[in-house]
Amino acid sequence: MDITPLLFSGCQSLDIPITPEQLNKFQLYCDFLIEYNQNVNLTAVTYPPEIVKKHFLDSLYPLSQGLIPPNSSCADVGTGAGFPGVPLAIMRPDLEFTLIDAQKKRLTFLQQLLERIELKNCSLMHARAEDAGRSVRENFSCVLTRAVARMSVLSELCLPLVLPGGTLICYKGPDAQNELSGCQSALKLLGSAPPQIIDCLGLENSHKLIILRKISHTPPTYPRKAGIPAKNPLF
Ligand code: SAM
Repeated sequence: MDITPLLFSGCQSLDIPITPEQLNKFQLYCDFLIEYNQNVNLTAVTYPPEIVKKHFLDSLYPLSQGLIPPNSSCADVGTGAGFPGVPLAIMRPDLEFTLIDAQKKRLTFLQQLLERIELKNCSLMHARAEDAGRSVRENFSCVLTRAVARMSVLSELCLPLVLPGGTLICYKGPDAQNELSGCQSALKLLGSAPPQIIDCLGLENSHKLIILRKISHTPPTYPRKAGIPAKNPLF
């Protein structure tokens, strides 16, 4: 199915300019995701217009708010089938993305996808976020993450990766405020300024972005060993 008219109008309504080359990359991405998903379960969303709305436009929302500065070094933690990192990398060749996931099968898909759509500004990292928090600690000016964990866990998985002065962008559902209320001390401890919540208006869902600006180094004891943040979340 040709998704380009729907994606073009969706980008227009979010005030995000998109070129024919970029539309073509998204078409190839959609087709390959559907084909690959027949054998390897990557996503429950397989109807092309839903892929456009729930995966592509949802991923691109931060661009409509000017949230990612030019030439940023970015990481997508728990990228899965590439969301939000790959759509953002297609739209912004000035950004350098590291796509991180703990599951090898996701990265095997992504390796083939990146070759098919000839996307040069993404590299892949097979790791748990807790281990990446040591090996590429405070390495990224912008870290993004969608549908990986609740905020109390996510903050410990992701804030150690962010450079002081950088930003963590968490894609969240309508419950964002509740998720935050239980972990304010943890955010401060891990080096974040007080959070900001942005309503994703114009997306036909009630999604929100939680924006955390990192203002000081994360103490060296965090992140704790793999699995501990989820078992015993900070609050
Ligand atoms: N971000 C994608 C999206 O929004 O469609 C994928 C979401 S999927 C529900 C969660 C992904 O996070 C999975 O691919 C899983 O392997 C990865 N993940 C979960 N915990 C992780 C961790 N501690 N470190 C790295 N990846 C993790």
